[in-house]
Amino acid sequence: MPDSRPPFKRKSPITASRPPTPKKSGGDDEPFVPKPSGRALLRVNLTALTDNYEAIKKLCARKGRPVVVSAVVKADAYGLGAKHVARALYGAGCRNFFVSTAHEGKALRDHIGKTPSIYVLNGPTPRELPLFYAFKLKPVINNMAQAYLWDQGLKSQEARPRCAIHFDTGINRMGFHGSELDALRSDTALVARLNPDHLMSHLACAPDADNRKNRKQREMFAAVIKSFPPVPLSLSNSAGVYLGADFHFDMVRPGCALYGLAATKTPAQETTRPVVQIEAPILQVNELKKGESAGYGASFIAPRDMTIATIGVGYADGLPLVPNGTVIGRLDKQNLSTAGRISMDLTILDMTGTRRPPKPGQVVTLLADQLQPYADAAGVLNYQMLTMLGSRFFRSYDKD
Ligand SMILES: *Cc1c(COP(=O)(O)O)cnc(C)c1O
Repeated sequence: MPDSRPPFKRKSPITASRPPTPKKSGGDDEPFVPKPSGRALLRVNLTALTDNYEAIKKLCARKGRPVVVSAVVKADAYGLGAKHVARALYGAGCRNFFVSTAHEGKALRDHIGKTPSIYVLNGPTPRELPLFYAFKLKPVINNMAQAYLWDQGLKSQEARPRCAIHFDTGINRMGFHGSELDALRSDTALVARLNPDHLMSHLACAPDADNRKNRKQREMFAAVIKSFPPVPLSLSNSAGVYLGADFHFDMVRPGCALYGLAATKTPAQETTRPVVQIEAPILQVNELKKGESAGYGASFIAPRDMTIATIGVGYADGLPLVPNGTVIGRLDKQNLSTAGRISMDLTILDMTGTRRPPKPGQVVTLLADQLQPYADAAGVLNYQMLTMLGSRFFRSYDKD
């Protein structure tokens, strides 16, 4: 007879004691002031996201032949949160999504329902085949090994799920080319059984409109697809969209542009806007005398008397290190530069001469339209700025 007594008291004295009823901030006559938080906020603007989706649709719009705009939401929608991002894009009419792995696809299926297409860019793998079947994921078939694997698995499947076939036209990363392409092309029975609903390739140099490789890849793609069934085609990522109608084919596959990143070398032409902003609280304000240092390694030496503020966000949140004096933030529209090495949870910023004297609880903003110069100063890609964002943020998804 098992002992039915619980192994320990159900309620520890701590959880059992009722927390004190919180006092209302301010009486009836006082305005409500939110309590300052020590936790940095990552704000994702879903209106900007869907506006960017519309902006890309506009760039591809032409009479007669509509171009489908899909969404690349791999790596948790570039770090922004695939759930909220994909749902918002679904709401904007997006019905084709790309992820990298079957596990990403499984998670995404939960968020967007049964009908949208989810393509898995990295292709099928033996261990994940059951996920493809259970969650109706379409693999992108990149090589003969993947083609054989998928073809073998289809024998056990009544539903015969479709797939995409990926041709490598010059990036030399993933996709059929050379002898593998010859092998696939000559096995028409295999191609028929694979029954792709999409043929694609990927551009290596699309951000640079002057690069001759763009047109070479386009021409090679147009030639290769002639040996395959006449199904919809896609070639362009975000940057490719800006290369013009010749590069749009039936579908485009933007990622970074949806998230408000500059996609091309000439961002002035781009019609998207920032989606991501960090809001970090000032935790402490310090006065620095000329010649005093700030931060680890004392790398920053005050060139004059100055006011500095320490904010509650650091490299553990994904902020890359930058040289002292790099503008990375803003308070009341005033640019703020680093004064000392960024540390794990804290960042010191120069507040000298700000219009409002800095005070703990005030909120400094980072990223937004300052993301690109920050990335440049740090020597990282703008994409990385997003995928590095940490898990400690309080995240808010709002509409403006
Ligand atoms: C990541 C990726 C995209 C999206 O690229 P962006 O530059 O973010 O627009 C499109 N196609 C493929 C094959 C990709 O791997």
